[in-house]
Amino acid sequence: MVNVNSLSSVDVGLGKTFLINRTSGRWAVVAHEAMRLLHSTETADAEPRRALLEQLAAKGVFNAPYSPPANLNTLILKVTKKCNYGCKYCYDLEADDAWIDIKLETAMAAIDEALRLAHAPNTGLVHPDLGVILHGGEPTLRFDLIKQIVIEGRRLAKEYGKTVSFSVQSNLSLLNDDMVQFSYENDLAWGVSMDGPPEINDKFRVLHSGRGTYSYFDRALEKYPDFVRKCGVMTTVTSATEDHLLQIARHFRDCGLSVWKWSLFQSLGVARKMAARRSSTPPRRSTPHGTLCATPSRPVSSMVLKSVRCSTT
Ligand code: SF4
Repeated sequence: MVNVNSLSSVDVGLGKTFLINRTSGRWAVVAHEAMRLLHSTETADAEPRRALLEQLAAKGVFNAPYSPPANLNTLILKVTKKCNYGCKYCYDLEADDAWIDIKLETAMAAIDEALRLAHAPNTGLVHPDLGVILHGGEPTLRFDLIKQIVIEGRRLAKEYGKTVSFSVQSNLSLLNDDMVQFSYENDLAWGVSMDGPPEINDKFRVLHSGRGTYSYFDRALEKYPDFVRKCGVMTTVTSATEDHLLQIARHFRDCGLSVWKWSLFQSLGVARKMAARRSSTPPRRSTPHGTLCATPSRPVSSMVLKSVRCSTT
């Protein structure tokens, strides 16, 4: 018997829904019509619904028992949902989310389980068994909690005879002497989320008031140049920035930062509104993203657009 209640779904725009089995981590991207069928009790829908459920079951979205990942080496902990920024594309905060912080016991239970499962990849290079990324919202809003997690996590790793590294993904706006000193003393690495020079960064990365945020990065760089230059930069690439990647890379190089990574815009959380606005206007050009979109008139066989198990590595 299929248990539809074990699934959570998020409308990701463009006629698609992200569907995940909360127990197994198996997920699929399906057309809106598939979601209607899943919840339908109409007799006329019985056959297409059965076919859809069979298809999802075959992909493990239903009835797949929880099996711990065999190659876990990274744990992302959301320290807090709160953020002092109000980026227009923030994927993190859903409309009905509360601005909650993680409890220390929850964080430690997650690290404990991850340490039991983790082992360093066999690449010939030196890796910690487990890398813990302290994420948000803006995690430095709870730096008191971060200190406890890092100290306790290292103690726990020692008990397991394993190695653990900790890093913080931050906007750096609250960086202060205490954070810098603790990080040097406890080998805490940092990543900064930034989109490029002010005219690019401040398009989306803004305060709740709508004011741009580049000046906060500038202040941190001026006050703690050596510390900030060791941070890796993470840029969110959107249709507004995709044509400026070289300019962005050069900007961070000129700031003295040596590591630059990027990830693609995801239409989740607040960002869903942006995606919805874009999907109501003709696309500027066709993108690979657009090829995932299915229309409700498609047969069941094409309603499951993509499915994979959530990756933890
Ligand atoms: S994307 Fe912006 S608003 Fe969202 S958590 Fe990061 S800094 Fe905060």
